[in-house]
Amino acid sequence: MKTGKMEGFISMRAKVFVRTRTFGGLFQKTKKRRYRTPPPSTAFASASAAKPSTVNRLPSTVNRQPSTVTDTYRHKGLRKRMVDALRRRGIADEAVLAAMNAVPRHFFLDKAFEEHAYEDKPFPIGHEQTISQPFTVAYQTALLNIKPGDRALEIGTGSGYQAAILAALGAKAYTVERQEALYFSAKKLLGEMGFRAVKCFFRDGTKGLPDFAPYDKIIVTAGAPVVPEALRQQLAIGGILVIPVGEEVQYMYKITRLSEFEFKEEMLDAFRFVPFLEGVAKKK
Ligand code: SAH
Repeated sequence: MKTGKMEGFISMRAKVFVRTRTFGGLFQKTKKRRYRTPPPSTAFASASAAKPSTVNRLPSTVNRQPSTVTDTYRHKGLRKRMVDALRRRGIADEAVLAAMNAVPRHFFLDKAFEEHAYEDKPFPIGHEQTISQPFTVAYQTALLNIKPGDRALEIGTGSGYQAAILAALGAKAYTVERQEALYFSAKKLLGEMGFRAVKCFFRDGTKGLPDFAPYDKIIVTAGAPVVPEALRQQLAIGGILVIPVGEEVQYMYKITRLSEFEFKEEMLDAFRFVPFLEGVAKKK
């Protein structure tokens, strides 16, 4: 079983680099500072107060394997333990933790891994891809600081789990996948689970999704050798792009668009992701 080695959190960096990049290639290092997890936001609570959130409307079964997959008390208990463990590991954003407590991760996994769905591990989802480990999902999502109504673009739909978390936080989520088979299965599953706020696309995400730009938030869930310029350009002013950048090992970058031409870049912790690839792969 190919799991664990290919993907996951590697280490915390002691120092974080913050620099402002003026569009046109000029780099200016402004200051160094220690990274702090964004403060807990009330996004989740206010989303549920405003209208019945998607989370509250989750059905207890999905049609993927309708007779076998249910969200039992046992699953709920394991999920709560997973969330407690994430909190102990330093995830402080309660809205993100509430979303992860609400979305049944085991629905997004192959039946063979159901027993392990609430361990902090990545799992294979076919086509040499993995569902990210819960810590990575929580870490990236906390950096995005999703507010209800945000337009969020995800590159790398995979299982659809991360997109479901964005929707559970009240975002209108657009998610792009280059593997046709994964695109179809995630679209079907998210539809069956009632996530109407998620729109799935079968595209090459290196070009972003210009059709619905600009986005308040963009998240890339595959390791990119460089930051695609299209993604920077599809960010709204004040928008945040979270992307793991590097070849063998990737450093998480949080890029904030300060103005039309200025971007603040923060280089954070080390992870290992499946590769961000150009082009699309048709269903075989
Ligand atoms: N967010 C996913 C994690 C999937 S792993 C989840 O929650 O399950 C990363 C995914 O990115 C893979 O499915 C891979 O096929 C996809 N990917 C890699 N390069 C891509 C590209 N250029 N465009 C779109 N998707 C891409």
